[in-house]
Amino acid sequence: MEIERIGVIGAGQMGNGIAHVMALAGYEVLLTDISQDALNEAVALIDRNLTRQVSREKISQAEKDAAMARIGTTLTLTDLGICDLIIEAATERETVKQAIFEDLQPHLQPHTILTSNTSSISITRLASRTDRPERFMGFHFMNPVPVMQLVELIRGIATDQETYDTCLGVVERLGKTAASAEDFPAFIVNRILMPMINEAVYTLYEGVGNVRSIDQAMKLGANHPMGPLELADFIGLDTCLAIMNVLHDGLADTKYRPCPLLTKYVEAGWLGRKTERGFYDYRGETPVPSR
Ligand code: NAD
Repeated sequence: MEIERIGVIGAGQMGNGIAHVMALAGYEVLLTDISQDALNEAVALIDRNLTRQVSREKISQAEKDAAMARIGTTLTLTDLGICDLIIEAATERETVKQAIFEDLQPHLQPHTILTSNTSSISITRLASRTDRPERFMGFHFMNPVPVMQLVELIRGIATDQETYDTCLGVVERLGKTAASAEDFPAFIVNRILMPMINEAVYTLYEGVGNVRSIDQAMKLGANHPMGPLELADFIGLDTCLAIMNVLHDGLADTKYRPCPLLTKYVEAGWLGRKTERGFYDYRGETPVPSR
C-alpha cells in the first residue's frame, strides 16, 4: 500500500523526532497534540535539529526547507482522518491512548493503518478496541529518533501481512532497520533495558553506589555510551516507571517490581531532562547528581 500522508499524535520528545524523520523522507506529516505550546516547541525543535544536520553537511538547506514545508500541525485530532498511516506517540498511559483511538476512529479512511509508538502496552489489546485490528500494529522508535537506527515493528495477534509489509516499507524509506518483535510486555529492547535501569536505581536505593559511581561503572566497566541513570533521565522517569509497571503486571514476576526510589522521583515530579530534574539536576551549566 502507498503511504503519502502520515499523522503523528503527541508532539513530545518522540512525536517531534518522528515528524522530523518522516518529513525528511518525503512524507506529508500532520502533527497533533492537546497543547499548542507542545506543537510550537516541537516545530521549533525540528527546525533546530534540521539546521544542525545542515551545518554538519548531512542534508542540504533545500532538503531542510522541503522537510519543514511538509510538516503541518493541528490541535484537532480528527484532522488526521486524511492520513494513510497514523503513529500515536502520546503519553504512555493506556487510557490516554485508548481515548485517542476511539475519538479518531469515526474519521478514518478505510485503508488507514493505525500504529502506536508505545514502549510497553499490549498492541493486541489496543488493537482490539478499534474497528481495524488487522490494520493495527506497534511502530516503536528509539530516542532520539533522528539518530537511532532501530525501529521495532510489533505485530498484534490480528495484524495482517500487508500492514506489516507497508510499515516495513516505511522503515526502509527512512533508512532505518526494523527488528520484528512479538507482542509481549515491553517487546525486545525495553524488556532487556528497563530491568537494567531499574536495577541501577535499586543499586542507588540500597547505597551500593551513588549516581556518579553507578553511571561511571557502567560506562567504563561495561562500555555503555551512557550510564543507566543518565539514560533513565534521558528517557523520562515517568516512562521508565510506566514500563516497569507493565512488565510487573504483564509477566507477574516480582523480578520486575519497580524500585520505590524510582516511584519517589516520579512522585516528586523529577522526571529527568524534560523537567530539568531527575537523577541529575540540569538547571545549571553542568548536570549535578541528586545523591
Ligand atoms: P512526552 O511526555 O515527551 O510527550 C507526550 C506528548 O503527548 C505531550 O506533548 C502531551 O501533550 C501529548 N499528549 C498527551 N495526551 C494527548 C492526547 N490525548 N492527544 C494528543 N497528544 C497528547 O512523551 P514521549 O517520551 O514523547 O513518549 C511518547 C510515547 O513514545 C510513549 O508511548 C512512550 O512510551 C513512547 N516512547 C518513548 C521513548 C522515550 O525514550 N521517551 C522511546 C520510545 C517510545
